[in-house]
Amino acid sequence: MPLDLNTPVKFIKRIGDRVAANLATRGVETVEDLLYHLPFRYEDRLHPKPLSQYNTGDMASLIGEVRGTVLLRTRSAPIFEMTVGITPPATNPGAPGPDSRTRVSTESSMEGLLKPPPTQILETVKCMWFHGTYLKDKFHPGQHIALYGKLEGSRSGNALNAPPGSTRFKMIQPTFEILPGPNATGEDAEFISLEMGRIVPIYESLGGTTPWGAKLTSRWLRRVLWTIFRELTENQDAANTPGAPGPDSRIRVSTASSVPETLPQALRQRLQLPSRMDALRDLHFPPAGTSMTELMSARTPAHRRLIFEEFFYLELGLELKRRKLRNRIGTTFTTDDNVRKALKQVLPFKPTTAQKRVLGEIVTDMRSTKPMRRLLQGDVGSGKTIVALQAALVAIENGYQAAMMAPTEILATQHYLAAKKLLADAISPHTNRPYRVTLLTGSLDERAKRDARARIFRGETDLAIGTHALVEEKVDFDNLGLVIVDEQHRFGVQQRFKLMRKPGPDGVAAEPDVLVMTATPIPRTLALTVYGDLDTSIIDELPPGRTPIVTRRIPQERSSEVWDFVRKQVAAGRQAYIVYPVIEGAKDDQPELDFAVTVDGEADRKTPSVAPSKQPSSSKRFTAKTGQKLRSATEMFDELSTGPLAGLKLGLLHGRMSSDDKEVTMARFKRNEINVLVSTTVIEVGVDVPNATLMVIEHAERFGLAQLHQLRGRVGRGKQKSYCVLVTGESISSEAENRLNAMVRTQNGFELAELDLEQRGPGEFFGTRQAGLPNFRIANLLRDLDILELAKSEASSFVETPDKTIPRPEIEAVWTRLKHQWQRRYGLVEA
Ligand code: ADP
Ligand code: MG
Repeated sequence: MPLDLNTPVKFIKRIGDRVAANLATRGVETVEDLLYHLPFRYEDRLHPKPLSQYNTGDMASLIGEVRGTVLLRTRSAPIFEMTVGITPPATNPGAPGPDSRTRVSTESSMEGLLKPPPTQILETVKCMWFHGTYLKDKFHPGQHIALYGKLEGSRSGNALNAPPGSTRFKMIQPTFEILPGPNATGEDAEFISLEMGRIVPIYESLGGTTPWGAKLTSRWLRRVLWTIFRELTENQDAANTPGAPGPDSRIRVSTASSVPETLPQALRQRLQLPSRMDALRDLHFPPAGTSMTELMSARTPAHRRLIFEEFFYLELGLELKRRKLRNRIGTTFTTDDNVRKALKQVLPFKPTTAQKRVLGEIVTDMRSTKPMRRLLQGDVGSGKTIVALQAALVAIENGYQAAMMAPTEILATQHYLAAKKLLADAISPHTNRPYRVTLLTGSLDERAKRDARARIFRGETDLAIGTHALVEEKVDFDNLGLVIVDEQHRFGVQQRFKLMRKPGPDGVAAEPDVLVMTATPIPRTLALTVYGDLDTSIIDELPPGRTPIVTRRIPQERSSEVWDFVRKQVAAGRQAYIVYPVIEGAKDDQPELDFAVTVDGEADRKTPSVAPSKQPSSSKRFTAKTGQKLRSATEMFDELSTGPLAGLKLGLLHGRMSSDDKEVTMARFKRNEINVLVSTTVIEVGVDVPNATLMVIEHAERFGLAQLHQLRGRVGRGKQKSYCVLVTGESISSEAENRLNAMVRTQNGFELAELDLEQRGPGEFFGTRQAGLPNFRIANLLRDLDILELAKSEASSFVETPDKTIPRPEIEAVWTRLKHQWQRRYGLVEA
């Protein structure tokens, strides 16, 4: 049976049932899976970089000859030492290398390499392995060897047994491969061209062993893959046989061969992308002359092709989704004088240019017959809420209901109070009566919830504000026209789809418009993928009169200066937040900081720190895992009330309080009956108290960048100068150091978001595993933005104005493939 991509790996030579079972545990079941197990690096064994071009500290890939070995029995551990003579640069660099495409045997060109070159050896490298007894019989002088590892300076001279020479470098525990010698036999001889005289692929191990107990090494994988390619090429050649029947032999090649082509040929030609088969083969066995720099940075034509393909299908799917939406029927609002009057009478201030523009974009969507799916991005404090409320008024003045959802009860309540205040004296020009606003959150008692639901259902409310209770509990609207999702990044993408889908099942005459808002600026790369199905508006301007927030770092030992500053601000009539990563002390199993210990593994590196002298040496403090004693909101509330901040009015707020208590505390803080709010990250999003001018964040090194930025956004909301103080504990990882420095350096949310993405990766960026990111096999969102943008524009023109030179069957094949892959590979939920 000829191999094709779907052939189970057990049918491949050298694999068989047992190895196949083992590979299956690593998700490798078919030939295709194996082909997409790509090398993670390459070694240039054709033109290895000469030792003279390396510096201490470089990672080096060297080819050399074993000169001598010795096992040193030291007191602590036996050390195996080996001296390797490094082959100097080839004297005939013009010699053609083996071409992986055509030549399997390359004996003629191997000769030069296999000839013993001892007279030319210029330099030696000393290699050392601790506990290296097992290597004792592995090496013997004269063997050829490939080494990979970090070059370290060596002052001790040559290893024992080695002939004189100069040793500038040593390598500690390098990875190595013993190369086949001139007398190699059997498989070693057959595959000699895979190990030497070429750019050699190095693979991540797939674990496990062969039936005879050998490890599934890079060498093993090379041989397996080489065999696969040889067979696939033979199949392809057969499929290519001239004279094969069929109207269009060109298509036959791309669809009927054993590695089906997935991109239309005309598209590939225009973008100069190799075929899928060539791309895969070139990544496993790069032809001579491939740029090592391009290989290592994933920018060879082969890389670009496979990355493009992944992005192209993703963007194609998103494009279709957008179009499907455009063909659905949404609610069509009008903006007449009544609407304009309504908007005017509630505006408490002059909107910024950006707010006006964005409202314009939203209203344009609302007036159209298509359902709106718009993402409103705006940095913290940019004034999204009022824009959203204006959009709600447009809906209400058109006789519809609007719903607004917030991720926390505090925020929902705040929106509710803000909306009520804003609409308090307003009369709807449309109905000639006041606006009716209803709050619905999970923690209301059953009766209140029932009441709220009834008012919503009977159309006795114009604007429903709530947490996701609005979606998760059964809430039916009378006539819902607009859904607003605030701080959407906190919801996770799955939830977002749920929110968006909830109101209007397909088939209902008109579905509501949806506006999602986020204060976490979304780096472009994610906007094009996770949010690729939404139109975007950005408020890129802060309301006037804001002064930049002064941000400072200060070590915990100097807390007293911070408390003095808090007192000063309060004396000036201002208010402050003090934020802690955890709610309580030692018994706190759920710190209110979701990635405190996962941010960058820094918890593991923490060494126990001594509590600052002012702290009571209480054993109650949180010490789990980290060894570091964390100050907690509850304990510090007690301590500050009776100590450094005695006499001020302090409040405590955290997620474990009842929602009544939370609400009361928040309301008192808003009215300035509380000067200082000691809190956890429950205040992270949305909370708006313009008189608060100081944000103190303790253990700031433990917070993620997005969180720090959100927290800082709680101040600087009024005319007064505002401050953010980052109090840091003792051991700070270099990543945390970068975060803190970035916070001090900039207030630009987009800049911080990019750094956050870089540090945490796309999967963690939203602080939620269910971010809905597609699974890419090769593409990397951090690295490949340029290809992503290309793929997006190609996808959209593929749908909009298909290239006339692409034959129909090829276009059909693209759609078939998309249908087949969309759910499985990209895992994006249909909205
Ligand atoms: P966010 O975009 O973070 O949700 P908010 O909508 O909470 O920001 O607005 C932040 C603060 O700025 C609020 O106190 C709001 O009343 C005020 N604000 C919003 N727009 C303006 C404006 N155009 N002029 C003056 N103040 C404004
Ligand atoms: Mg907001």
